[in-house]
Amino acid sequence: CGIIGVLGNHEVAPLLVESLKRLEYRGYDSAGIATINSGRLDRRRAVGKLVNLSDLLVHEPLAGKSGIGHTRWATHGAATTVNAHPHMSGKVAVVHNGIIENFRELRAELAEAGIAPQTQTDTETVALLTRMFMDRGMTPREAAVATLKKLDGAFALLWLFDGEIDLMIAARKGSPLAIGHGEGEMFVGSDAIALAPMTDRITYLAEGDYAFVTRAGAEIFDAEGRRANRDEQRIDLGA
Ligand code: GLU
Repeated sequence: CGIIGVLGNHEVAPLLVESLKRLEYRGYDSAGIATINSGRLDRRRAVGKLVNLSDLLVHEPLAGKSGIGHTRWATHGAATTVNAHPHMSGKVAVVHNGIIENFRELRAELAEAGIAPQTQTDTETVALLTRMFMDRGMTPREAAVATLKKLDGAFALLWLFDGEIDLMIAARKGSPLAIGHGEGEMFVGSDAIALAPMTDRITYLAEGDYAFVTRAGAEIFDAEGRRANRDEQRIDLGA
């Protein structure tokens, strides 16, 4: 299971798939990517090996310079296309590794707001909550932070938003996440190996951190919402 995100200056779909290949060693049962094409979120997902996703992209290409990708190791909900990430609701797309332990409680809360799940996953509740907060007038940043406060469990999370070509929001609790620095490009990945073709300049999020990532850089906050300074490192993977 793995996560990748790119705010790039070139078409990102091939980069996302290439990075997911580098995360294959972790194991997975399905995969998917979402990009923002002409301001609009769109996604492609496929069960099984990454070649199935690549084949789908040949027939149904996904343009765009901002995107997120995921390889899934199903914990809640069968390994089907519907349950594959990215999960989307309204203007929100999210990928997730780990488990949202309180997703049943969150579903009950969403039901009271008239929001019904479309998948069997724990992850979808993250997209639905963020969408609910945005529908109430919050910005994507506010909505992601409000969502994070509601989540119990272990996770690496990455959000992308319709109409926001220069924003990814990343969060880490119990599952590692690395931010990669490029020249006018920024990356997020499960590890430095996934980012190796793009950059060797890596900032690891600390436990409980979240980050607002734009092409200009990353603003990192600790679990209490205070601005945090995390060192940028040069990673030599011999790649
Ligand atoms: N719990 C999530 C799911 O089953 C994420 C699994 C993963 O880490 O890939 O969809």
